[in-house]
This record gives sequence, C-alpha cells and structure tokens, in this order.
Amino acid sequence: MTNYFDTSIEFLKGIGPQRAVLFQKELKIFSFGDLIQHYPFRYEDRTKFYVIAEIDELMPYVQVKGKFTDFEIVGVKNKKRLIGYFTDGKSEMEMVWFQRIDWVMQKIKPGIEYVAFGKPTRFGKKINIAHPEIEPATENNLKGNSFQPVYPVSEKLKARHIDSKQIAKLQLELFRVAEPHIRETLPEYLLRGQTLIGKKEAIRNIHFPKSQELLLAAQQRLKFEELFYIQLRLIKMKLVRQGKFKGQVFNDAGILTKFYKEYLPFELTEAQKRVIREIYGDMKSGKQMSRLLQGDVGSGKTIVAFICILLVIGGDAQAALMAPTEILAQQHFTNLKKHADLMGISIALLTGSVKKSQRKPIHENLQSGELKILIGTHALIEEEVKFKKLGLAIIDEQHRFGVAQRSKLWQKNVDVYPHVLVMTATPIPRTLAMTLYGDLEISVIDELPKGRKPIQTTHLFDSQRLKVNGFIRSQVDTGRQVYVVYPLIDESEKLDLKHLMDGYESMARAFPDLPISIVHGQMKSEAKDYEMARFVKGETKIMVATTVIEVGVDVPNASVMIIESAERFGLSQLHQLRGRVGRGAEQSYCILMTSYKLGADTKTRIETMVRTNNGFEIAETDLKLRGPGDLMGTQQSGALDLLIADLSKDGKLLQQARDAANEILTDDPDLRKPENGVIKIQIEQAKKTAVNWSRIS
Ligand code: ADP
Ligand code: MG
Repeated sequence: MTNYFDTSIEFLKGIGPQRAVLFQKELKIFSFGDLIQHYPFRYEDRTKFYVIAEIDELMPYVQVKGKFTDFEIVGVKNKKRLIGYFTDGKSEMEMVWFQRIDWVMQKIKPGIEYVAFGKPTRFGKKINIAHPEIEPATENNLKGNSFQPVYPVSEKLKARHIDSKQIAKLQLELFRVAEPHIRETLPEYLLRGQTLIGKKEAIRNIHFPKSQELLLAAQQRLKFEELFYIQLRLIKMKLVRQGKFKGQVFNDAGILTKFYKEYLPFELTEAQKRVIREIYGDMKSGKQMSRLLQGDVGSGKTIVAFICILLVIGGDAQAALMAPTEILAQQHFTNLKKHADLMGISIALLTGSVKKSQRKPIHENLQSGELKILIGTHALIEEEVKFKKLGLAIIDEQHRFGVAQRSKLWQKNVDVYPHVLVMTATPIPRTLAMTLYGDLEISVIDELPKGRKPIQTTHLFDSQRLKVNGFIRSQVDTGRQVYVVYPLIDESEKLDLKHLMDGYESMARAFPDLPISIVHGQMKSEAKDYEMARFVKGETKIMVATTVIEVGVDVPNASVMIIESAERFGLSQLHQLRGRVGRGAEQSYCILMTSYKLGADTKTRIETMVRTNNGFEIAETDLKLRGPGDLMGTQQSGALDLLIADLSKDGKLLQQARDAANEILTDDPDLRKPENGVIKIQIEQAKKTAVNWSRIS
C-alpha cells in the first residue's frame, strides 16, 4: 500500500528534482511526511507593530511599518555600510546593511510602504536595525496577526536561496495539498480526556500558529502523541515478554535467612530493603523479571545483587553477572566472593584473559550445576558457556551493552528465560530512564548507607596550585593517597598528553620524596596494570592519570581527587570521577581546578558539583545543560531522537503519556476495541519504517 505522505518532495510545487536533492542531503527530508514534520524551532512574534518612538534597544525583535525617505552609503572598504532612513510618519530610525548593499539598493526604493522586522540596537541617540527583514506592505502582512515560523536550514541551503521563509512557503503549499490526507492518530476519548486538539489543527498551528494559545495547544498535542507512542511501544514490549515468557519461581528464602542471621555485615538501608522487596516480588510472581536497578556509586548495589543471587541458589538454580570491562568484572568477583565464601557457595570469574586450561573446569562445573555463580565480561555470552539452570542474569550496564547482548544472556536458559536485573551506577534522569529502559521495571536505591561522610568538593583556580600542593602534602602525611586526573580527549590527544606529562613532572618536582604513579590510555596494558597495582598496594602515594581510572580501581585509602582542567569534563563524568574517593572511613575531598575564564554552562557544572553529591540531582542538571542525546552518547541517542518533545523539559507530559499508554494496554492489550482502532492503524503504518510510532508516514 503506498501512502500519500511517502510521496517524494520532488513532486511538491516549488521543489522539483534539483532542490529535492538539496533537501535530502542537507535536511534528510525525502518525503511529504518528512517535510510536514520539519517543525519550526522558534517563532517570531509578528502580531504587533511598534511605533518608532517606543522602540528601545532592550526589545528582542520589533516589527515596524513605514517608508524610506533616503539612502546613504558611508565609510569605505570593510567599514562601508548602507543606511536607509526609515520613518513611520512621526519619528525616524535607521536600517543598516553591511553586506549585499548593491542588491538592497536595487530591491528597496524610497516612498513605498514596507514592513520591517529585526533586532533594534542603539547607536548614540539613534535606534537602528542591522540587516532587517523587509517586505513590501501587503494586505496580508499589514494585518499583523501571525507568528512567523523559523525553520532549521543549513548554510548550503541558504546559499541556494532556500531560507526559513522559503520553507514556510513550501509548508503552506504542502499543507494546502496534504490537508485532506492528514488522519487523526489518537482516539477521540484520549483527545477529550487529555484536552488535546486534533491532528490537523495541530499540524496547521505548529507551522502557522494563529495565536500563542493555539501554538501551545499544537505543541502540547504533538509532544503528547510522540511520547505516547514511544511509551506504548515500550509497554507493549514488556507485556509481550511477560505474557510469552514464564518466569522461574523462587520463593524459598531459607538460605537467605541464614545469611541475614549470620553474615549480613551491616544493617541494610531502607532503600536497599525496598528494592529487595520489589525484586523478590518479581521472582516469586511466575513472570520473568526485567528490572533496572539504579543507584549512585557507593549506594550498596553489590549486597542487593548478592541477596538476589542467594534467592536463586536457594531455588537450586545458578546466577551470572556480566560487567562491561575486565577490571569491573574482577572487582565484582572480589566483592561477591567475600560473601559467597562465608556461605560456602562456589563462584568463578570468566573473562577474555582467563586461560583455556582454566576455562575447561569452569565450563564443566557450570554444566553439572556445581558452580553456582559466574562473574565475567561478554565472555559469558560465548557459545561454549552453558548453564545447568540459569535463574538470574545480572547485567552491570553503564550504557555499554545493547539490547541484543542483553537478550543473548537470557537465551542461556532456553526452556524458561532467567530473570534479568540490569544494574547501572550512572544515575539516569527519570525521563531518560523511562524512555531508554521503559520496557523494564525500575528500582532506585536513593539513599546512601548511614555514617558515610559526604565528599567535600572545592573549586580552585590554577593560580592556587601552591595551596593544592600544601593540601596534598598534609593528606599524604596522614597516610592517605591522592588522584590527579587530566582530561584526554581524542581530537587534541597530543597536546593533552603533554599536559599530563608536564603535570606529572611538576608533581615529581613538588614531591621529590614521594613515589608517584602515572597511567594513561596510550600505555601498554601491562604497564598500566603494573602502575595501578602499585597504587592499589599503597606503594605509590599519588596517581597521575587520565580518565582511564573513571571506572574500575577501588582504593579505599585514596581520599583526594584532584581534577585538572575540570571545565573540560561533563558533569556526569566529574561525578563519576569524584566517586573514586569517599570509599573508606576517612573524610574525602574533591578539588576542581580550572582557569579563570569560564562560560556560563561551565560555571553551572562546577557549582553543581560543589553544591551536591547526589547523582540524580547531578544527572538532572546535566540533562538540562546538554540535552538527552549528548548525555547518553551517540549509541543510544537514536531512541532519544525526538521530533518535538524534549526530555529535559517535558517530564510531566511524559508521565501523562506513559500512564495513558499503560491504561490503554492494560484494558485492551491487543487493541481490539473499536475506539482504539486509530492506534492500531497508526502502529501498523509506522512499524514498517520507524522506531518512533508517532511519525507521519
Ligand atoms: P555500589 O552501589 O557502588 O556498587 P557497593 O555495593 O560497592 O556500592 O557498596 C559500597 C560500600 O558500602 C561497600 O563497602 C559496602 O560494603 C558498603 N555498604 C553497602 N550497603 C551498606 C549498608 N547498608 N550499610 C553500611 N555499609 C554498606
Ligand atoms: Mg559496585
């Protein structure tokens, strides 16, 4: 079935084959559907005309009507400019051009009535507008009742005279021909319940808003629809999985009770208890668990993971934990082994560097069921790794595994899939979690264990280095160790490496008596491991490094984290780095070093770090600063590539959309009810092409 909105834009009046190529290359606009969903990114208020006398330089944009009385060219060479004297009949202002002077002189004549629009500035006593938009006054634009859409265009398009205005004209033409083909894509009762306007009205007003109110209504409607279809898809995935896949039932808490009574090393926090209850609820439900466990660094996810593992082992099944790197796998192994040994439970580590001869017994014991817990990297999902009965797969994700890898691990148990617990130590803002992991249940450990001393964070300038060195000395004198971290970012690698080396040398000069380690990404991995190991053992007191230490090493004795050129790190990264200290009983410190010149966003980042240790608060701020795509890295940005909704601003609407989707699918899982027919049609239409089910296609 061909669809009207699949029509190539070549066939729109005013485009044609040559321009169509430009639209495809520059804006990825191929079809009518693509163009009509190329929404304005802002609007210019053309509802009001100003009289010249009331204009001041603080106004963002103004629109005036009047006539030119005279033109004058002043200055020479690159100072040359054209001044047009413009009057509204009462007062005069100047319109100024620095470029395209000849063209303007040809086009614009004295004595004719024009509508001019632009940003007013003041020169001495006079107000002027540089490079105003000028149109001859027409009946239409004199009415002054519209918001002008401003569309994203590229420089290349502008050079070919396709600017925002041109696109607006094309949109007008497209809407004229396409209007009869625009279908309503949300059910009537949902529109009423959510007080949303219809699709046609929304599309019309997103491009050509009649008023501020209608513009808002159009945005609300289209954002809701976009978020609704994303959530509908995720919830559908979840329901399908739950319906299709039975879960192994684990409800024997016997061995768990033994652990609680005899070996639990501390009292669990309320948050840990709550999360364990949520997981336990899943594991005895008969449905397969798919849950995301979020918790900041140090919030105590390990013990939660171990308790879940015990539940599974109590039911005579096995558990696996997959980590993204060798170092992390090793660390999980060490941590879990402490608990497992107490309980006399067998546990093994399987990574790429485990030798063939050592793999064999692991494989065998896994298949016989003797080995209960297997920790590892993606080596776990290799063909040869076979479990007797895998009951729980824990995935420590850190945004590194894709959905495909996740599902490979569950397929390790064919008859009944294992329960899946995805853990992440990078707090994800709620709106992002709901979108990226919307097919999972979400548990959050939002509380740190009692008695933890919050890390004290300070911001210092490069000129205060002596003070910093004094502080390092005092900490090392009390037996502590210190990290000094430098940025190392691909494009400027050579220069960064030099800074790192210079930093190392100045440390060596300042502390000639102290052994210092250095670690960076360009070192051979044996050399890196050797240096890391020296620091872990306390043989070296200062570790000068790049962000390679971001994940991995856990040195409770390290109490100071100094971050050099902190302005060059993202907020989440700063928080991750800071999380390397504060792991022991001692008071820990983080010092952010920057130059004097800081942009507004950088200041916000630094201030946020100094103000709070709360990873979720930091993640929310980071989302506002960077937007969802950048925050999660390019790998996942596809899922966050929204047409109109903005996950950093539309949290409330997202929740409404998710609730609505949930309600509908709970009530009518297969969308059989006639009133849900439009949803069904929309999904069928969109499934063929897009992840985003709200797209017009
Ligand atoms: P993360 O969430 O970063 O994996 P861990 O599980 O490694 O955190 O826990 C960090 C530290 O806090 C560990 O030393 C752990 O033993 C300790 N810990 C965890 N839970 C508690 C608790 N409820 N009370 C006291 N200490 C705890
Ligand atoms: Mg951990």
